[in-house]
Amino acid sequence: MLKWLDIIRIANNGNPSPEKRVEKTNEEWQLILTPEQFRVTRLKGTERPHSSDMCSYFEPGKYACICCNTELFDAGEKFESGTGWPSFTQPIKENVVAYHKDSTFGMVRIEALCNICDAHLGHVFQDGPTPSGLRYCMNAVSLRKIVVNESKITFGGGCFWCTEAIFQQLKGVVKVESGYSGGEISNPSYREVCSGMTGHAEVIEVTFNPAEISFEDLLRIHLATHNPTTIDAQGADKGSQYRSVIFYRNDKEKDAAMKVIEELQASYNAMIVTQLEMFEHFYKAEAYHQNYYNNNSDQTYCQAIINPKLKKFKDLFKENLKEQVTL
Ligand SMILES: [Zn+2]
Repeated sequence: MLKWLDIIRIANNGNPSPEKRVEKTNEEWQLILTPEQFRVTRLKGTERPHSSDMCSYFEPGKYACICCNTELFDAGEKFESGTGWPSFTQPIKENVVAYHKDSTFGMVRIEALCNICDAHLGHVFQDGPTPSGLRYCMNAVSLRKIVVNESKITFGGGCFWCTEAIFQQLKGVVKVESGYSGGEISNPSYREVCSGMTGHAEVIEVTFNPAEISFEDLLRIHLATHNPTTIDAQGADKGSQYRSVIFYRNDKEKDAAMKVIEELQASYNAMIVTQLEMFEHFYKAEAYHQNYYNNNSDQTYCQAIINPKLKKFKDLFKENLKEQVTL
């Protein structure tokens, strides 16, 4: 993740090499851009604030360079800055945005450009939200919104540190977030959920591309990688917050989940007790729970508890793994 010091270092020492370059003359750009797109991207213009509804759009998807169509930002990194320009905390990859010192208007700012075609995008500031602390203040007219085919599924199978680590490795999985669902109170804290009194389960919310992995396959992997036959417990973890649960968003998902459970029951001696609950809210857990395994893989818990689970999972579901997975 890039932080402010990285941006300064890059602006001083040079930008990372892009994977490809797109170069055209201004005359050629004018043929494919509107006058406003040309003014902003090729002549370093700035659009009026609040001139695009892109600012208030937070649906899943990606944002590509209007000139060369390279994907620059993910909707997951977009936030409401209140400035009237679409704002992001991080580019999709470190080498898609280039940074230059911009001394116009009597101040030194960091200009952000498309690293592939040099389109002017906007500026980067150091007053963004944690963890990166960056605010990519972009011209909406420099970006093209790409709506992608993404679905969400939410389920619990014990400690979310373990379930998150497993689902992050799957092909077709775009994002995994740890959190709480199924309980009574809003915005619960980890401490409250641990008390077992909130009704919330520790869950993960998986954003996936149904063209690459199906809802049913995600459920099969979910059931195969925890113990769905113990009520309110996973190994040493006991309490309703550790219940085996699948949250469905409609009747079609409920039916699909029931079918998968029925199909897998044959391979268990004990009854599958996974609960099917209607999805209401997902409350994202505190930042230190996100990406827990990858950030803490040298800790005893990860080595003793998560590593064996991951190994079992990777043996079982080799075909479903993302490429170049390292442990
Ligand atoms: Zn570009």
